[in-house]
Amino acid sequence: MSKRDYYEVLGVPRTATEEEIKKAFRKLARKYHPDVNRDNPKEAEEKFKEINEAYEVLSDPERRAQYDQFGHAAFDPGQGAGAGGFGGFGGFGAGGFSDIFDMFFGQTGFGARHAGPEKGADLRYDLEIAFEEAAFGVEKEIQVPRTEECPACHGSGAAPGTHPETCPQCRGTGQQQIVQNTPFGRMVNVKTCTRCRGEGKIVRTPCKECQGRGRVRNKRTIKIKIPAGVDSGSRLRVAYEGEAGIRGGPPGDLYVYIFVKPHKLFTREGSDVICEVPISFVQAALGDEIEVPTLDGKVSLKIPEGTQSGTTFRLKDKGIPHLRGHGRGDQHVRIKVVTPKNLTERQRELLKEFARVSGENINPEQKSFFKKVKDFLGS
Ligand SMILES: [Zn+2]
Ligand SMILES: [Zn+2]
Repeated sequence: MSKRDYYEVLGVPRTATEEEIKKAFRKLARKYHPDVNRDNPKEAEEKFKEINEAYEVLSDPERRAQYDQFGHAAFDPGQGAGAGGFGGFGGFGAGGFSDIFDMFFGQTGFGARHAGPEKGADLRYDLEIAFEEAAFGVEKEIQVPRTEECPACHGSGAAPGTHPETCPQCRGTGQQQIVQNTPFGRMVNVKTCTRCRGEGKIVRTPCKECQGRGRVRNKRTIKIKIPAGVDSGSRLRVAYEGEAGIRGGPPGDLYVYIFVKPHKLFTREGSDVICEVPISFVQAALGDEIEVPTLDGKVSLKIPEGTQSGTTFRLKDKGIPHLRGHGRGDQHVRIKVVTPKNLTERQRELLKEFARVSGENINPEQKSFFKKVKDFLGS
């Protein structure tokens, strides 16, 4: 591909002064700046590069002289005269230039600087539920205060019958370019458009419902289904029930954090339920059949004779359903043997009688314990 003449590129005569070259460059740079050529950014970028390249050479008296003498060959090692002679221009190849270009535009990138649709913010809602509700699942209605798209203007912020207009200051890009000449070269600073605050659009007649914001505060009732087996710390995601999106973006999500209220009878360990059941020392000694509460109602449990305090019985599948998957945990019934207090005279008598009868007959477990104590104290 043959390269266009640099003077031709800038549209100046070969006799142009430095000032005329600068002027021509500025005019063309503005015209072909990729920011204002949104319809054909690729072509604008090529054009812009070409203009820059021409200016780089023609604005430097030394390079300009070389160019005048040798043409493009002066800067192309592959072609004749320029070969080793102008090593000083090594950094000025296509690669070097694209670096400069990226420095100017790489950060924001084409299109990205436009104030586009934005997803709404996610919301958090803390929900307290009962132990049984966590175990078996429940449907709840919650009231969530959030911002929503204004129903009057459908989020545009413009009064019904009117439309937002493209911001004249940034031509809808939402950003302004400030070109500065610094000791290190030409720098382009990108900042948010002051007129439209980056929206790219301005509203001349604001919607009365939302004062032109396009969004309104609302308290929305949302039905949520809490699955069986959730526990404190479980988090449910309700898609698209968060804050309204911006500029037509999708709404955020709603996250419901579950807190389970403590139960009077049950505690929970994963999918298992623990329940402590007090029995009398007589029941423990003689054995009994007792009623035990479970999440599904009462069940009967056989206490064998000689049951010790702290013994645990397992009721299979009486626990909490597994949150993911099938089946349920178990219930563990922990027996607590209660020592009687405030005995009547008669009870006291009977217990003394019991002790007398048991006197000779010490429990083997007690015997072995006392032996260990004796050994430990060394007496
Ligand atoms: Zn509105
Ligand atoms: Zn603007």
